[in-house]
Amino acid sequence: MSQFSTLGINTFGVDHACKSISTAYNVTQLTELLRRLRDPVIIGGGSNVLFTRDIDRPVILIEIPGIDIVGESVSHVMVRAGAGIQWHRLVQWAVSQDYGGIENLSLIPGKCGAAPMQNIGAYGVELKDVFVDLDAIAISGKMRRKFTAEECDFGYRHSVFKSALRDEYIITHITLKLTKPGHHFFALDYGAIRDELDARKVKNPEVAILSRVISDIRRSKLPDPTDLPNAGSFFKNPIISLSVYHSIAAKYERVPHYPVDEEHVKVPAGWLIERCGWKGKREGMVGTHVEQALVIVNYGTRDGSHILAFSKKVAEAIKRTFDIDLDREVNLF
Ligand code: FAD
Ligand code: NAP
Repeated sequence: MSQFSTLGINTFGVDHACKSISTAYNVTQLTELLRRLRDPVIIGGGSNVLFTRDIDRPVILIEIPGIDIVGESVSHVMVRAGAGIQWHRLVQWAVSQDYGGIENLSLIPGKCGAAPMQNIGAYGVELKDVFVDLDAIAISGKMRRKFTAEECDFGYRHSVFKSALRDEYIITHITLKLTKPGHHFFALDYGAIRDELDARKVKNPEVAILSRVISDIRRSKLPDPTDLPNAGSFFKNPIISLSVYHSIAAKYERVPHYPVDEEHVKVPAGWLIERCGWKGKREGMVGTHVEQALVIVNYGTRDGSHILAFSKKVAEAIKRTFDIDLDREVNLF
């Protein structure tokens, strides 16, 4: 059995063996590692992965640093960040400069390199709203290339790196376009943001205030993985046809739903899980969070297969009750 363990590299707190763990601090080191290691698993902050068994693969941790302004106009700055920068550190840096655009994405765990993977999103903003391009290196280590936003094929918690190009490229840098003071455009229409601003008597929001408000809302609702291991939302919110929505609405009162296009709506998976009686439910060492049913939490197992088995029961309950297939957001290894 390998001496290397996944324990310190995933926020679910599961402990499985892997072949080796190496760290890349720059692109040259990464290229070198890719030349030596076959079929590596790439890990940033490990906040969106579930190891379900021992893996006979090497792990590469991405720690490429750097936050640099690489372009500027009257209204915007172009900021390039290394894949190893903690996402929230980039947000804090932007806040400190009064650059706008990513304040609604405050406190999302993980690294900048993983942000394009699922087009991270929260509180009405997605990475794609500020994204310019990214630099990547082929998993063979033999080719570097840039991807524009269009080439990333961003969608709802989706990109080309989660589908057609899964396991093909490693992201080394991302470049974002942020607004300068006087040119900010705040997204305030989501959930509790306006209520919270009103409660704090804020008439004219600023980047820093919004970041603080969103951080406070998140801290009050979401389990901190260092206290209660988890990987955030385990499933995506399903996008369903209007006819499926109407059949649910005929049986249940006030079904929360958000328009996607003329024929589809998005329904919070957390609501579906709650209606099936699975909110706050615990089986052995795994459960759904008492406040947010979409977050599966680990009460003490070191075996990721227990978490996977529990998640399958949740998904089966949704299928039985609503005939809706939940898609996993978390990446399995
Ligand atoms: P990891 O978990 O390390 O990796 C995720 C996937 O990306 C894996 O498949 C991995 O192989 C791949 N990957 C990682 N780095 C690279 C790279 N450089 N190049 C290529 N592939 C790579 N997500 C949201 O979108 N919005 C939220 O509001 C949100 N809230 C969260 C709250 C909590 C408490 C937690 C625990 C998670 C939350 N997440 C959220 C999920 C997670 O934080 C994000 O998906 C984040 O971007 C994952 O970053 P990471 O570095 O931890 O990725
Ligand atoms: P919430 O405010 O309780 O809302 C529940 C769900 O309804 C959200 O997931 C959201 O979908 C949807 N929603 C609410 N208001 C909406 C609006 N005005 N327009 C469109 N959709 C709306 O959610 P929460 O659990 O506290 O999370 C708050 C935000 O943080 C959400 O954006 C959520 O995605 C994000 N978050 C993500 C993760 C993760 O791991 N991916 C974990 C925690 C929080 P969306 O998810 O599409 O926004």
